[in-house]
Amino acid sequence: MAELIDSHVHLRSAEGATQLDSICRRIGAKRMGIVCLHYDPQSNSAAFQAKKALPDRFYVFAALDHSSRTSSMGSDLGALPLDEQVRVLIEKGADGIKLLETKPDSRKALGIPIDSDYFEPFFAYAEREGIPIVWHAADPPEFWVPRLTPKWAVEKGWGYDETFPSYEQILAEVENVLERHPGLVVTFAHFLFLSNDLPRAANLLDTYDNVHFDLAPGIELLYNLSRNPTESREFFVTYARRIIFGTDIEDSLSLEQAAHRAGIVKRFLETDDEFRVPEGADELLGPPEDGVIRGLRLPAEVLEMIYHRNFERIVGEHPRALSTAD
Ligand SMILES: [Zn+2]
Repeated sequence: MAELIDSHVHLRSAEGATQLDSICRRIGAKRMGIVCLHYDPQSNSAAFQAKKALPDRFYVFAALDHSSRTSSMGSDLGALPLDEQVRVLIEKGADGIKLLETKPDSRKALGIPIDSDYFEPFFAYAEREGIPIVWHAADPPEFWVPRLTPKWAVEKGWGYDETFPSYEQILAEVENVLERHPGLVVTFAHFLFLSNDLPRAANLLDTYDNVHFDLAPGIELLYNLSRNPTESREFFVTYARRIIFGTDIEDSLSLEQAAHRAGIVKRFLETDDEFRVPEGADELLGPPEDGVIRGLRLPAEVLEMIYHRNFERIVGEHPRALSTAD
């Protein structure tokens, strides 16, 4: 069986690293990419501590610090301009940067468009240095339509009214950045929420050579791609170099829940089974009655790329070493 890297997992606190390591073994992955959250001041340090404990297990995609703009409480990192922050984080041993600043709730809370001058030095630096970015932009379009928003999403505060920027506005701001910086090495989380529009997804991948999509549910991406498995399979074969395995697993999940999450994505890729989210899956996957998943049964060489080769090509075959400075 192909080797597996889970490119998109979360760690809430340094103490959770042991559980994340157990999950990693349980789902049969050799490594994980921990993606950090800009609104959680503990997030970067938890990820760095996990890497320190298990240096060849965890990649770290560190978050930027906007405290100079958002709070009266400063921080050492937050006092620096964003390009300086990245330099410090990479020097410390981060493998890349995670952006969540374009998720609608963060975009609204921060109030700073991603294509603004504030972010510009960051993108220029990341492009020049080839620093990989895992980037969450927008959310599923149905989160802007109350009658279509799933209950679990509403409970999380992810039902958006007109006080939030629209899906199209966020995508337009993101595209402005890509146009300015075509060399940016980006993996858009959750298929960039374009799983309901494969021609648009294809167009974006054709336009920007360094853009990739991860497969972390967003369970809707599996439902959308299951509507026409033949078309989806063709897309996955054509863009095999641009698709990356991920789960959005976090350390608060039980081993069983984590195995369900990874198992759903793998079964979708490897088999032509028709199946539902299993009982016992975590609540962010919604209940089994929400939809049917139809597998793509992809060829072994395509699975190899999605499971680890693409990630290793753009991020590295091993996590970067932590700096010994601290
Ligand atoms: Zn995530």
